[in-house]
Amino acid sequence: MVPAFDTEHLEYEFSLPDDVEELTLPDVYVGLEIPLLAPGDGIVTDRHHASADRYEADDPQNQIGGMVSPFPLSGWLRHGCERVVQAAGGTACHPGAANGEYMLDDVYERDLDAGYHEKGSCVDDDAGCMLYDLFGGFNDRAGRLVRRPVGFSPIRRQVDVLQGEAEAHYRQLNTQVRSRNAEDDGQPLRMASRDVVGNLVGTWKLSLRELKPEYVGLLVEAVDYLDAHSDEFELQLGGARNFGAGMVDARVINPLYSDAEIRRVFNRAQDATQGMEEKGDVWASEVRQEFVRALQARVAARDGDVGMPDELSGGGSA
Ligand SMILES: [Zn+2]
Repeated sequence: MVPAFDTEHLEYEFSLPDDVEELTLPDVYVGLEIPLLAPGDGIVTDRHHASADRYEADDPQNQIGGMVSPFPLSGWLRHGCERVVQAAGGTACHPGAANGEYMLDDVYERDLDAGYHEKGSCVDDDAGCMLYDLFGGFNDRAGRLVRRPVGFSPIRRQVDVLQGEAEAHYRQLNTQVRSRNAEDDGQPLRMASRDVVGNLVGTWKLSLRELKPEYVGLLVEAVDYLDAHSDEFELQLGGARNFGAGMVDARVINPLYSDAEIRRVFNRAQDATQGMEEKGDVWASEVRQEFVRALQARVAARDGDVGMPDELSGGGSA
């Protein structure tokens, strides 16, 4: 079923091709492939299911599953959304309060010159910007975008990609920091431990509480932007970025796909069907553009010097 979109605020007519019969919306599945992830604010594990005396932290057979917190994922996605709005000529809500305790002088002012407006200032005169809408988080207004944790398991058949789950392998890394002073003969100074997951493959399930087409346009553009810039320090996800963690291959799973087709994307034994390939063409050549056009219209309505969709050539890339 194709859900109803809220389009009254857009100054042009949003319409999808007639042959679109099914959309995952208001759910948006982001496909993730992450060789190494160190979320930074930790991982909730189910390791209490294993009896304590049988758990060995470095045993490759450990079958520990758990959850990656949505907070680093949300920050990563938000950053991509900010870049997309700024590239379209708009400004984004600053993620921090103007009176926050920043470690650098004038950092807020510098950001205001570089594509941000003061957090929440966009609601003074009208409806607020898209970052404010989607990520919310101040006053009592909930963000329009529900960002769930990613559940993971090392056992593939226990992973349900329709529930926003991934196959991944949890490890608690313990490293000894050793003295380099010759007199100490390399003796350990302290232990450091870190939670990581390796080889994460699966989905992050997002849901829109309010279905405006520009939100979909912003999410697909942001995810493509993050994918294309996955090795840039600011756009890596979580911690340990100097060590190559958090380089994310990401894509929005075609919203035209049925549940069975989404499962098939992650089934290594099966290739895409012809129907899936056809939907891929329809998405890339028509539907995606229509959502991106709505995004452009919304940015144009707020920041006057941006062209309206009709004046722009072709919309985003496929
Ligand atoms: Zn704003």
